[in-house]
Amino acid sequence: MSIPKFRAAIIVFVVGFALGASVFLASRLFVRSVLNNDAMLAAEELAADLGIGRSIDTSAALSSVIRYTYFDLDGAVIESASSGTDGEGSQLKVPEGVNPSEIVRDGGAFIDESSPLLGFMGTNTPAVKRLVVPVTTDGELIGSLLVVVDQSRALASLTRAFSVVAIVTVGMAVLAVVAVAFVVTRGRGFRQRKNFDPTKVPQDALTGVATRAGLIEILDDVMERAGESDHQVVLMVIDLDRFSAVNGIWGHAIGDTVLQMAAGRLQNIATDTFGVARISGDEFAVIVESAETRSMQELAGRVREVISAPFEVDGASIMLSASIGGALYPINADNGEMLFRAASNALAKAKMQGRNALAVFDTEMKQRMQRHEALERDLRSAIERNEFVVYYQPQIELASGRLRGYEALVRWERPGEGILSPRDFLSVAEETGLILPIGNWVLRKACQDAAEWLEADSVAVNLSSAQFRSQEIDKTIAGVLQDTGLAPDRLEIEVPENLFLDGAQDVMETLNRIKALGVRIAMDDFGCGYAGLASLAQFPFDKIKIDRSFVGQLTEDADVAAIVTSIVSLGRSISVDVTAEGVETKEQVTLLRAAGCNIVQGFRFGAPQRGAAVAANAAQMEAENLHAADMQDPVERAG
Ligand code: C2E
Ligand code: MG
Ligand code: MG
Repeated sequence: MSIPKFRAAIIVFVVGFALGASVFLASRLFVRSVLNNDAMLAAEELAADLGIGRSIDTSAALSSVIRYTYFDLDGAVIESASSGTDGEGSQLKVPEGVNPSEIVRDGGAFIDESSPLLGFMGTNTPAVKRLVVPVTTDGELIGSLLVVVDQSRALASLTRAFSVVAIVTVGMAVLAVVAVAFVVTRGRGFRQRKNFDPTKVPQDALTGVATRAGLIEILDDVMERAGESDHQVVLMVIDLDRFSAVNGIWGHAIGDTVLQMAAGRLQNIATDTFGVARISGDEFAVIVESAETRSMQELAGRVREVISAPFEVDGASIMLSASIGGALYPINADNGEMLFRAASNALAKAKMQGRNALAVFDTEMKQRMQRHEALERDLRSAIERNEFVVYYQPQIELASGRLRGYEALVRWERPGEGILSPRDFLSVAEETGLILPIGNWVLRKACQDAAEWLEADSVAVNLSSAQFRSQEIDKTIAGVLQDTGLAPDRLEIEVPENLFLDGAQDVMETLNRIKALGVRIAMDDFGCGYAGLASLAQFPFDKIKIDRSFVGQLTEDADVAAIVTSIVSLGRSISVDVTAEGVETKEQVTLLRAAGCNIVQGFRFGAPQRGAAVAANAAQMEAENLHAADMQDPVERAG
């Protein structure tokens, strides 16, 4: 983990303080050098006057010079003057045996200076300097001048100016430090203020442990603290194998008790009792935080142990096993949501391996997850850039070869990657809700095309169950019909069987409202889901579409042929059209005709095509269709 935030704040503070202090010191050194320079200039000016034989006018420029003494080459005093205020007598005392003119033979030198630094710091030492400079005529030394300067006033005003500079600089440095420290530690401060309480997260009513949402909150908190102390966090997502059988055999009351017991047993494995969550019906999560690296195998072994111990409820002894998906912080994720998704991904793999299996999130899964996320990003920009197109596939009346309608099938024309089929992106679009904008666009486009140029009775549009869940799809359809001017009976909606799996009542009401608009409703892919027959009984469909997996096996498998024949006669008995999808061969056509199927759709009669191609082919379609239906040799018409 990175340096803890408070340590970073201290470092920033020290750096800031050092910066302020150095500006402070540098300003003092600057004052000192300015004053030294000034004193030297004053002395040299006097010496220059003497050098050209001019006498010194103390009353004029030399306000800071309080005394001077002019020596000849032998060190004898030629001239001396004093402002008379320093009380040290009018003549400077030069130490016995010292000739100032000898000192300056190689240039001027300070022989004494009171400390401007001390003065600057507030001592009342006067800023007095004694210095000796050479006196020359035409470059030749003729004597020396000893000058005493008092720079108290200059020092005082410079001190004031630089005090302001120093105070402002230090103030700004402190402000900068405070600002940086605030930004750096804000997250931490927020957490502390938030005072996270894991017992306050959303709880599952049945078991009392956290819900999925609660798990993410707890994970975020645990991971943040683990990061600060370099701990590891293991998340296991656990699915009880075949739990629905428990409900089926023993009843829901006993099933509920088993779930409560399972949650309790898992709490013994989690680091804290709140480290367990119930994700969905029979899916749990367990958080283990530890300083040392714990082996996933060992932890999963403990989960298996507690789950495989018999659940004794009301005289029943129930045996269970668990599939486990595991992920690790900090290796696999850096926030709760990601860690959970990683472990769930691993669980999906464990379930595919059969019961009682463990799968650990690995790089391959990570890559798949990343591809999934990348696809989601690309889908979003594809929507913005209008990269979708609608293809149309003809639906033919078998008896007459007449073109009845087209099915609208979306394609993604992805720059650089060609044309993508819905199989490549639909599941991601459904999971992320992006199916709503995409599906609405397809609906509008198909209705527009049908109103403007598609020469057929009807256009069929596929809707996903996601489109029924999260919007008032009937109002959307009504709006699109109104905007495009398409007659409602020319629109057919194809819905998947899985629509009836959950929230059947709401779905039924929505379907009824759509039907009330005058729109026809078809059940797509009939026969591959679980709810087919049940939903036929619940809702008056206008059409059943036999899934192409049945049509594909029609000529190879007598049982499949029998099933298809039954579906067709079922459809006739409740007076709905039956369309066979994926019709490719002459043999299939013959069998479907014998079974009484009235509409066919498939490569034999035309592959899905782009709008312009559909328009070009429409005219010659009918004659060919009859031919295609009856032609002896199977012809591949796949485009
Ligand atoms: P579907 O509704 O069952 O559509 C029929 C699929 O079978 C189409 O695949 C079509 O290209 C393919 N197909 C047609 N004739 C033949 C054939 O003779 N042989 C074979 N092997 N396949 C044939 P596509 O276009 O890839 O669409 C796949 C599925 O994606 C569709 O299945 C439909 O469920 C869904 N889908 C397509 N467009 C949309 C859409 O706009 N919205 C929604 N929600 N789903 C769509
Ligand atoms: Mg369809
Ligand atoms: Mg279908």
